[in-house]
Amino acid sequence: MEKKVRRIGVFTSGGDAPGMNAAVRAVARTALHMGIECIGIRRGYHGLINGDFLPLDFNSVSGLSRRGGTMLYSARSKEFMVPEGREKAVATCKLLGIDGLVGIGGDGTFRGLLELSKLGVAVVGVPGTIDNDIACSSYTIGYDTACNTAIDSIDKLRDTMQSHERCSVVEVMGRHAGHLALYVGVACGATAVIVPEQEIDYEHDLIEPIRQARSHEQRTHFMVIVAEGVEGGAYGVAEKIREATALDTRVTILGHVQRGGAPSARDRVTATYMGYEAVKLLVAGKTNRVICLQDDKYVDFDIAEALSMKKSLDIQTYTVMKALTGMEQLKPKA
Ligand code: ATP
Repeated sequence: MEKKVRRIGVFTSGGDAPGMNAAVRAVARTALHMGIECIGIRRGYHGLINGDFLPLDFNSVSGLSRRGGTMLYSARSKEFMVPEGREKAVATCKLLGIDGLVGIGGDGTFRGLLELSKLGVAVVGVPGTIDNDIACSSYTIGYDTACNTAIDSIDKLRDTMQSHERCSVVEVMGRHAGHLALYVGVACGATAVIVPEQEIDYEHDLIEPIRQARSHEQRTHFMVIVAEGVEGGAYGVAEKIREATALDTRVTILGHVQRGGAPSARDRVTATYMGYEAVKLLVAGKTNRVICLQDDKYVDFDIAEALSMKKSLDIQTYTVMKALTGMEQLKPKA
Protein backbone atom coordinates (compact mmCIF):
# COMPACT_ATOMS: atom_id res chain seq x y z
CA MET A 1 0.00 0.00 0.00
CA GLU A 2 1.27 3.49 -0.88
CA LYS A 3 2.44 5.66 2.02
CA LYS A 4 0.12 8.57 2.69
CA VAL A 5 1.80 11.95 2.17
CA ARG A 6 1.30 14.08 5.29
CA ARG A 7 4.05 16.65 5.02
CA ILE A 8 5.86 18.14 2.01
CA GLY A 9 9.08 20.18 2.04
CA VAL A 10 9.92 22.82 -0.56
CA PHE A 11 13.18 24.69 -1.21
CA THR A 12 14.84 26.91 -3.81
CA SER A 13 18.45 26.31 -4.83
CA GLY A 14 21.19 27.48 -7.22
CA GLY A 15 20.84 30.84 -8.97
CA ASP A 16 17.59 32.58 -8.06
CA ALA A 17 15.02 33.32 -10.75
CA PRO A 18 11.90 35.52 -10.88
CA GLY A 19 8.91 33.25 -10.36
CA MET A 20 10.50 31.00 -7.75
CA ASN A 21 8.26 32.62 -5.12
CA ALA A 22 5.17 31.88 -7.20
CA ALA A 23 6.27 28.23 -7.38
CA VAL A 24 6.76 28.07 -3.59
CA ARG A 25 3.29 29.56 -3.10
CA ALA A 26 1.76 27.04 -5.50
CA VAL A 27 3.44 24.10 -3.74
CA ALA A 28 2.27 25.32 -0.31
CA ARG A 29 -1.28 26.15 -1.35
CA THR A 30 -1.75 22.93 -3.35
CA ALA A 31 -0.48 20.88 -0.43
CA LEU A 32 -2.75 22.68 2.05
CA HIS A 33 -5.68 22.27 -0.34
CA MET A 34 -5.04 18.51 -0.25
CA GLY A 35 -4.82 18.43 3.54
CA ILE A 36 -1.02 18.14 3.55
CA GLU A 37 1.31 20.25 5.71
CA CYS A 38 4.02 22.24 3.96
CA ILE A 39 7.45 23.15 5.29
CA GLY A 40 9.69 25.71 3.59
CA ILE A 41 13.38 24.81 3.76
CA ARG A 42 15.56 27.93 3.75
CA ARG A 43 18.85 28.27 1.82
CA GLY A 44 18.54 25.18 -0.40
CA TYR A 45 20.58 22.09 0.49
CA HIS A 46 22.42 24.11 3.13
CA GLY A 47 19.16 24.51 5.04
CA LEU A 48 18.26 20.88 4.54
CA ILE A 49 21.55 19.85 6.15
CA ASN A 50 21.17 22.29 9.05
CA GLY A 51 17.43 21.99 9.70
CA ASP A 52 16.78 25.62 8.68
CA PHE A 53 13.03 25.66 7.99
CA LEU A 54 9.69 27.39 8.57
CA PRO A 55 6.15 26.07 8.37
CA LEU A 56 4.20 27.50 5.43
CA ASP A 57 0.52 28.16 5.96
CA PHE A 58 -2.04 29.78 3.66
CA ASN A 59 -1.22 33.33 4.80
CA SER A 60 2.56 33.02 4.88
CA VAL A 61 2.66 32.59 1.08
CA SER A 62 0.08 35.28 0.40
CA GLY A 63 1.12 37.92 -2.17
CA LEU A 64 4.22 35.94 -3.15
CA SER A 65 3.42 35.56 -6.87
CA ARG A 66 4.34 39.12 -7.68
CA ARG A 67 7.59 39.19 -5.72
CA GLY A 68 11.02 38.69 -7.29
CA GLY A 69 13.82 36.72 -5.61
CA THR A 70 12.93 33.87 -3.29
CA MET A 71 11.51 34.23 0.23
CA LEU A 72 13.17 30.90 1.08
CA TYR A 73 16.61 32.28 0.07
CA SER A 74 18.88 30.35 -2.24
CA ALA A 75 22.33 28.93 -1.70
CA ARG A 76 24.97 26.66 -3.17
CA SER A 77 26.08 23.98 -0.72
CA LYS A 78 29.51 22.34 -0.95
CA GLU A 79 28.70 20.17 2.04
CA PHE A 80 25.83 18.53 0.16
CA MET A 81 28.26 17.42 -2.57
CA VAL A 82 29.78 14.80 -0.23
CA PRO A 83 27.96 11.71 1.15
CA GLU A 84 28.26 12.86 4.80
CA GLY A 85 26.41 16.10 3.95
CA ARG A 86 23.67 14.24 2.13
CA GLU A 87 23.21 11.87 5.06
CA LYS A 88 22.62 14.90 7.30
CA ALA A 89 20.02 16.16 4.82
CA VAL A 90 18.24 12.79 4.91
CA ALA A 91 18.31 12.88 8.72
CA THR A 92 16.61 16.31 8.64
CA CYS A 93 13.89 14.92 6.34
CA LYS A 94 13.30 12.06 8.80
CA LEU A 95 13.29 14.37 11.82
CA LEU A 96 10.78 16.74 10.21
CA GLY A 97 8.66 13.85 8.92
CA ILE A 98 8.97 15.02 5.31
CA ASP A 99 7.27 12.51 3.01
CA GLY A 100 8.11 14.35 -0.19
CA LEU A 101 10.44 17.14 -1.26
CA VAL A 102 10.07 19.70 -4.05
CA GLY A 103 13.33 21.32 -5.20
CA ILE A 104 13.12 24.42 -7.41
CA GLY A 105 16.32 25.20 -9.31
CA GLY A 106 18.56 24.25 -12.21
CA ASP A 107 20.42 21.12 -13.27
CA GLY A 108 22.74 21.18 -10.22
CA THR A 109 19.69 21.18 -7.96
CA PHE A 110 18.29 18.21 -9.90
CA ARG A 111 21.58 16.30 -9.49
CA GLY A 112 21.18 16.82 -5.76
CA LEU A 113 17.57 15.57 -5.87
CA LEU A 114 18.69 12.48 -7.75
CA GLU A 115 21.19 11.70 -4.96
CA LEU A 116 18.47 12.18 -2.32
CA SER A 117 16.12 9.85 -4.16
CA LYS A 118 18.83 7.17 -4.11
CA LEU A 119 18.79 7.57 -0.31
CA GLY A 120 15.05 6.95 -0.17
CA VAL A 121 13.65 10.51 -0.15
CA ALA A 122 10.70 11.09 -2.50
CA VAL A 123 11.65 14.07 -4.69
CA VAL A 124 10.30 16.18 -7.55
CA GLY A 125 12.23 18.93 -9.35
CA VAL A 126 10.80 22.16 -10.75
CA PRO A 127 12.97 23.96 -13.36
CA GLY A 128 13.72 27.46 -12.11
CA THR A 129 16.59 29.23 -13.85
CA ILE A 130 16.85 32.29 -16.07
CA ASP A 131 19.19 30.34 -18.39
CA ASN A 132 16.42 28.14 -19.92
CA ASP A 133 19.04 25.40 -20.19
CA ILE A 134 17.06 22.39 -18.93
CA ALA A 135 16.90 20.04 -21.91
CA CYS A 136 13.67 18.19 -21.09
CA SER A 137 11.68 21.42 -20.79
CA SER A 138 11.06 24.03 -23.45
CA TYR A 139 10.79 26.62 -20.68
CA THR A 140 12.26 27.32 -17.25
CA ILE A 141 10.83 29.69 -14.64
CA GLY A 142 12.48 33.12 -14.78
CA TYR A 143 13.54 33.14 -18.43
CA ASP A 144 10.82 35.48 -19.68
CA THR A 145 11.34 38.05 -16.94
CA ALA A 146 15.13 37.95 -17.45
CA CYS A 147 14.67 38.47 -21.21
CA ASN A 148 12.40 41.46 -20.61
CA THR A 149 14.76 42.99 -18.05
CA ALA A 150 17.68 42.66 -20.47
CA ILE A 151 15.65 44.12 -23.34
CA ASP A 152 14.61 47.10 -21.24
CA SER A 153 18.23 47.85 -20.29
CA ILE A 154 19.51 47.40 -23.84
CA ASP A 155 16.85 49.74 -25.26
CA LYS A 156 18.03 52.40 -22.83
CA LEU A 157 21.66 51.77 -23.72
CA ARG A 158 20.87 52.11 -27.39
CA ASP A 159 19.59 55.65 -26.89
CA THR A 160 22.89 56.83 -25.48
CA MET A 161 24.99 54.77 -27.93
CA GLN A 162 23.08 56.40 -30.78
CA SER A 163 23.65 59.91 -29.40
CA HIS A 164 27.39 59.32 -29.08
CA GLU A 165 27.77 57.17 -32.22
CA ARG A 166 29.30 54.30 -30.30
CA CYS A 167 29.45 50.55 -30.62
CA SER A 168 27.89 48.82 -27.64
CA VAL A 169 28.90 45.32 -26.61
CA VAL A 170 26.48 43.92 -24.05
CA GLU A 171 27.07 40.73 -22.12
CA VAL A 172 23.98 38.87 -20.97
CA MET A 173 23.76 35.90 -18.57
CA GLY A 174 23.12 32.29 -19.53
CA ARG A 175 26.20 30.47 -18.16
CA HIS A 176 27.31 28.02 -20.89
CA ALA A 177 24.15 28.51 -22.94
CA GLY A 178 23.25 31.19 -25.50
CA HIS A 179 19.42 30.93 -25.35
CA LEU A 180 18.97 34.16 -23.39
CA ALA A 181 21.47 36.10 -25.55
CA LEU A 182 19.92 34.93 -28.79
CA TYR A 183 16.34 35.69 -27.78
CA VAL A 184 17.29 39.09 -26.38
CA GLY A 185 19.36 39.86 -29.50
CA VAL A 186 16.43 39.13 -31.80
CA ALA A 187 14.08 41.21 -29.66
CA CYS A 188 16.49 44.17 -29.61
CA GLY A 189 17.36 44.10 -33.30
CA ALA A 190 21.05 43.64 -32.50
CA THR A 191 23.83 44.10 -35.05
CA ALA A 192 25.13 40.65 -34.09
CA VAL A 193 24.64 37.99 -31.42
CA ILE A 194 27.58 35.87 -30.31
CA VAL A 195 26.81 32.63 -28.49
CA PRO A 196 29.04 29.78 -27.27
CA GLU A 197 27.18 27.13 -29.30
CA GLN A 198 27.99 28.67 -32.70
CA GLU A 199 31.44 29.22 -34.20
CA ILE A 200 32.01 32.70 -35.51
CA ASP A 201 34.56 34.05 -37.95
CA TYR A 202 35.01 37.49 -36.36
CA GLU A 203 36.47 39.16 -39.44
CA HIS A 204 33.82 37.80 -41.79
CA ASP A 205 30.74 37.70 -39.53
CA LEU A 206 31.22 40.77 -37.39
CA ILE A 207 33.93 43.22 -38.48
CA GLU A 208 33.15 43.32 -42.21
CA PRO A 209 29.38 43.76 -41.70
CA ILE A 210 30.10 46.65 -39.31
CA ARG A 211 32.46 48.25 -41.89
CA GLN A 212 29.91 47.80 -44.69
CA ALA A 213 27.09 49.29 -42.61
CA ARG A 214 29.38 52.21 -41.70
CA SER A 215 30.53 52.97 -45.23
CA HIS A 216 27.46 52.11 -47.35
CA GLU A 217 24.61 52.88 -44.97
CA GLN A 218 26.28 55.59 -42.88
CA ARG A 219 25.26 53.70 -39.78
CA THR A 220 26.95 55.22 -36.76
CA HIS A 221 26.02 52.98 -33.86
CA PHE A 222 26.05 49.24 -33.31
CA MET A 223 24.65 46.86 -30.73
CA VAL A 224 26.45 43.55 -30.27
CA ILE A 225 25.05 40.99 -27.79
CA VAL A 226 27.44 38.48 -26.25
CA ALA A 227 26.49 35.47 -24.12
CA GLU A 228 28.54 35.21 -20.93
CA GLY A 229 29.78 31.73 -21.96
CA VAL A 230 31.61 33.08 -25.05
CA GLU A 231 35.40 32.79 -24.75
CA GLY A 232 36.87 36.13 -23.73
CA GLY A 233 33.38 37.48 -22.93
CA ALA A 234 32.21 40.97 -23.92
CA TYR A 235 35.62 42.55 -23.22
CA GLY A 236 37.30 40.15 -25.65
CA VAL A 237 34.73 40.87 -28.39
CA ALA A 238 34.95 44.65 -27.80
CA GLU A 239 38.73 44.55 -28.11
CA LYS A 240 38.45 42.83 -31.49
CA ILE A 241 35.97 45.45 -32.75
CA ARG A 242 38.02 48.35 -31.39
CA GLU A 243 41.27 47.10 -32.91
CA ALA A 244 39.77 46.40 -36.31
CA THR A 245 37.47 49.42 -36.70
CA ALA A 246 38.69 52.11 -34.26
CA LEU A 247 35.03 52.60 -33.25
CA ASP A 248 34.36 53.99 -29.79
CA THR A 249 33.36 50.63 -28.31
CA ARG A 250 31.85 50.32 -24.83
CA VAL A 251 31.17 47.21 -22.78
CA THR A 252 28.16 46.72 -20.51
CA ILE A 253 27.84 43.61 -18.37
CA LEU A 254 24.16 43.39 -17.43
CA GLY A 255 24.94 40.95 -14.61
CA HIS A 256 22.67 40.19 -11.70
CA VAL A 257 20.06 42.82 -12.55
CA GLN A 258 18.74 40.13 -14.94
CA ARG A 259 17.85 37.89 -12.02
CA GLY A 260 15.69 40.44 -10.23
CA GLY A 261 12.36 42.16 -10.58
CA ALA A 262 8.71 41.23 -10.38
CA PRO A 263 8.06 38.10 -12.46
CA SER A 264 6.23 38.45 -15.77
CA ALA A 265 2.79 36.93 -16.29
CA ARG A 266 4.36 33.98 -18.08
CA ASP A 267 6.71 33.24 -15.17
CA ARG A 268 3.98 33.59 -12.54
CA VAL A 269 1.62 31.28 -14.37
CA THR A 270 4.23 28.69 -15.39
CA ALA A 271 5.58 28.60 -11.82
CA THR A 272 2.06 28.15 -10.46
CA TYR A 273 1.29 25.22 -12.77
CA MET A 274 4.65 23.57 -12.12
CA GLY A 275 4.30 23.88 -8.34
CA TYR A 276 0.80 22.42 -8.53
CA GLU A 277 1.92 19.50 -10.72
CA ALA A 278 4.88 18.76 -8.43
CA VAL A 279 2.64 18.24 -5.40
CA LYS A 280 0.22 16.12 -7.41
CA LEU A 281 3.08 13.83 -8.46
CA LEU A 282 4.24 13.34 -4.87
CA VAL A 283 0.70 12.61 -3.73
CA ALA A 284 0.39 10.05 -6.55
CA GLY A 285 3.40 8.27 -5.04
CA LYS A 286 5.80 9.30 -7.80
CA THR A 287 9.41 10.20 -7.05
CA ASN A 288 12.61 11.12 -8.85
CA ARG A 289 10.69 13.18 -11.44
CA VAL A 290 11.13 16.63 -12.91
CA ILE A 291 8.22 18.73 -14.19
CA CYS A 292 8.66 19.97 -17.76
CA LEU A 293 6.80 22.02 -20.31
CA GLN A 294 6.58 20.36 -23.71
CA ASP A 295 4.32 21.50 -26.56
CA ASP A 296 2.35 23.64 -24.09
CA LYS A 297 1.68 20.64 -21.83
CA TYR A 298 3.05 19.93 -18.37
CA VAL A 299 4.70 16.52 -18.33
CA ASP A 300 7.24 14.81 -16.09
CA PHE A 301 10.52 13.01 -16.68
CA ASP A 302 12.79 10.72 -14.73
CA ILE A 303 15.49 13.00 -13.29
CA ALA A 304 18.43 10.84 -14.48
CA GLU A 305 16.96 10.74 -17.97
CA ALA A 306 16.34 14.50 -17.91
CA LEU A 307 19.93 15.16 -16.85
CA SER A 308 21.31 12.99 -19.65
CA MET A 309 19.56 15.11 -22.30
CA LYS A 310 21.34 17.98 -24.05
CA LYS A 311 19.59 21.18 -25.07
CA SER A 312 20.83 22.62 -28.33
CA LEU A 313 20.44 26.20 -29.46
CA ASP A 314 17.26 27.00 -31.38
CA ILE A 315 18.82 26.98 -34.84
CA GLN A 316 15.69 28.39 -36.47
CA THR A 317 15.93 31.51 -34.30
CA TYR A 318 19.68 31.71 -34.93
CA THR A 319 19.07 31.54 -38.70
CA VAL A 320 16.41 34.26 -38.52
CA MET A 321 18.70 36.43 -36.39
CA LYS A 322 21.57 36.07 -38.90
CA ALA A 323 19.31 36.84 -41.83
CA LEU A 324 18.11 40.07 -40.24
CA THR A 325 21.41 41.33 -38.83
CA GLY A 326 24.65 42.30 -40.49
CA MET A 327 26.04 38.83 -39.79
CA GLU A 328 24.55 37.23 -42.88
CA GLN A 329 24.75 40.14 -45.30
CA LEU A 330 28.14 39.25 -46.78
CA LYS A 331 27.60 35.49 -47.04
CA PRO A 332 27.69 34.30 -50.68
CA LYS A 333 24.26 33.13 -51.80
CA ALA A 334 23.97 29.35 -52.27
P1 ATP B 1 21.57 27.58 -11.87
O1 ATP B 1 21.36 26.88 -13.18
O2 ATP B 1 20.72 28.77 -11.75
O3 ATP B 1 23.02 27.83 -11.53
P2 ATP B 1 21.65 25.13 -10.35
O4 ATP B 1 20.60 24.39 -9.60
O5 ATP B 1 22.24 24.43 -11.55
O6 ATP B 1 21.04 26.55 -10.73
P3 ATP B 1 24.11 24.70 -8.86
O7 ATP B 1 24.92 25.61 -8.05
O8 ATP B 1 24.77 24.00 -10.01
O9 ATP B 1 22.83 25.54 -9.35
O10 ATP B 1 23.48 23.56 -7.92
C1 ATP B 1 22.80 23.90 -6.71
C2 ATP B 1 23.26 22.99 -5.60
O11 ATP B 1 22.90 21.64 -5.91
C3 ATP B 1 24.76 22.93 -5.35
O12 ATP B 1 25.23 24.00 -4.55
C4 ATP B 1 24.93 21.59 -4.66
O13 ATP B 1 24.65 21.71 -3.28
C5 ATP B 1 23.85 20.74 -5.32
N1 ATP B 1 24.46 19.89 -6.36
C6 ATP B 1 24.91 20.27 -7.56
N2 ATP B 1 25.45 19.25 -8.25
C7 ATP B 1 25.36 18.17 -7.42
C8 ATP B 1 25.76 16.81 -7.52
N3 ATP B 1 26.36 16.33 -8.61
N4 ATP B 1 25.49 16.00 -6.48
C9 ATP B 1 24.89 16.45 -5.37
N5 ATP B 1 24.50 17.74 -5.20
C10 ATP B 1 24.72 18.59 -6.21
